[in-house]
Amino acid sequence: LTKIDHLGIAVRDLDKSVEYYEKSLGLRCHGREEAFAKSENSFFEIGEVHLELLEPTAEDSPIAKFLEKSGEGIHHIAFRTDDIEGQLDQASGSGVKLIHEVPFEGAANKLVAFLHPKSTHGVLTEFCMDKE
Ligand code: ZN
Repeated sequence: LTKIDHLGIAVRDLDKSVEYYEKSLGLRCHGREEAFAKSENSFFEIGEVHLELLEPTAEDSPIAKFLEKSGEGIHHIAFRTDDIEGQLDQASGSGVKLIHEVPFEGAANKLVAFLHPKSTHGVLTEFCMDKE
């Protein structure tokens, strides 16, 4: 792992959340896109770390389920890696349950895969790697 790439934050209202980060914190939103998890995402950058705000776009979105259970807040932490397959092998080899055994194309043109929070002491953990 080379760094913390981003924090994923579940929100109920993307527009209002973006307004908070822009007006109250002075950050600038640098992108918005529909994502694989049936969510619409907005991105911010602080130093080398990004924030990914996630608003569900369907009732069966995992983000919708998270909001129902836990309310708004930090949804996942994403670590950048240069070797996503190797990281998954290491994690599963040490007994961690994987949500995705095979990386797939996530937001912002990256390959991503998630570890199950029941195996990670409560933190939904994402590995991400730039697509080459
Ligand atoms: Zn993420």
